[in-house]
Order: sequence, then C-alpha cells, then structure tokens
Amino acid sequence: MRQMRAFSDARDWGRFHDLKSLTLALAGEVGEVAELVQWLPAERAMTADPPLRERLGDELADVLLYLLRLADVAGVDLSDAVLGKLARNGERFPVASFRGVAPERQ
Ligand SMILES: [Mg+2]
Repeated sequence: MRQMRAFSDARDWGRFHDLKSLTLALAGEVGEVAELVQWLPAERAMTADPPLRERLGDELADVLLYLLRLADVAGVDLSDAVLGKLARNGERFPVASFRGVAPERQ
C-alpha cells in the first residue's frame, strides 16, 4: 500500500484517485480478468496454461493494486477488514454444515 501510494504521489495522481474513480478502475481490472477466461471451457479456465497464467497474473496484480489504493484512499485498514470478514464468514458458514456444500445466496 505504501509503495502504491508513493507511485501515485510521484506522479501527482492523487487528485484523480477519488473513491468513485478508483472503484470504477478496480471494476475495469476485474473485467480484464474476466475477459481472459470468458470463452474458455470451464475445465481449461481451471488449469491455466503458462501464457494465460502470466496474463492472469498481470491482471490480478492490477486488481490488487487498485484494491490497495482504494482502501488507502478510503482509510480502510484492509488487514483488519479481511481478518474480520474471515471470522464472520467462519461463523456464517460453519464447516459442519457447509463442507462440500456451495453456499446459496442469502
Ligand atoms: Mg489491466
């Protein structure tokens, strides 16, 4: 997050990094990930070959970088948020009830 902030500050891009713009940028990068696999048969999408894996890595890095920048600008402690969410999900989907069972939309 610090490196991403420094990268942005060095280019004076902070003035463009409002919550709306960063959210749309993040969604755009998620779309780029989806674009890589959208027409692949599901089994091939699960076992990406090296060229696809490299491209996925690039796009997933873009997703993570925008996510980190968005959290930074929003003042969200992402570590706390992630650990809290994992704990809540653990309570919401106990292993005894959900092992091997896809959670339905609630
Ligand atoms: Mg990208």
